[in-house]
Amino acid sequence: MAQPCGKFPSVDTLEQLVERDRDHDCEGLGPHHICVRVEAVAQLPSQFGRFHIVAFWNNRDGKEHVAMVHGDVMGSEDVPTRLHSECLTGDVMGSLRCDCRDQLEVAMRKIGAMGRGLVLYMRQEGRGIGLINKVRAYSLQDQGLDTVDANIALGFRDDERDYEVAAHMLASLNVSSIYLMTNNPRKIQELEKLGRNVSGRIPHVIPATEWNRHYLETKARRSGHQIELESTPPLSEQNDPVIIEGQS
Ligand SMILES: [Zn+2]
Ligand SMILES: [Zn+2]
Repeated sequence: MAQPCGKFPSVDTLEQLVERDRDHDCEGLGPHHICVRVEAVAQLPSQFGRFHIVAFWNNRDGKEHVAMVHGDVMGSEDVPTRLHSECLTGDVMGSLRCDCRDQLEVAMRKIGAMGRGLVLYMRQEGRGIGLINKVRAYSLQDQGLDTVDANIALGFRDDERDYEVAAHMLASLNVSSIYLMTNNPRKIQELEKLGRNVSGRIPHVIPATEWNRHYLETKARRSGHQIELESTPPLSEQNDPVIIEGQS
């Protein structure tokens, strides 16, 4: 497995990453040989706390991923980290078909209140199937299919590139190890397979609404999420890649 870290000279400030990465071009991570470069860094004070925004270029799909950085993460261990996949309908429009916006806000708020932390915002709309196809899947759900069956009907499966980009972003930021805010143990396995050090998991708990309860139950039942619907308030993580049994 390619290991981009170790090739990176350490720098003192986030801003210096831009100059460091100017000529960066490694063999990349995973089967898709994903390589990313830090292209721009700026302060981004937000209603959730003080952050820097680090904008990444990648060598595969032209998507401009970002890391929201709070505090000093470079060279740090056990950095609380959240991977969030872009969800236009949830993050921006406030859709109640999922709870992506709540998940993002809770993560930003928690991390903003900690000494340090990271939110990696992955431009993987609809878990990598794209916006139009996500709306098509919603349409199938409107007709009675559940979320997994809707994606199967459209011929989609998990997209591994999400993790390859994230793993390289963590290496680019010189993060030594992370605590991952997630309810999905598979995310930890995927990042570890790509050479990242994950010290542990921080549960990410969001209560269900009447609109997304069925969705969350489906994910718990069919996608292996650590959700206990009977005994505790449901947890959720709509922005995870779809996990289809028998195809992983
Ligand atoms: Zn690289
Ligand atoms: Zn969503």
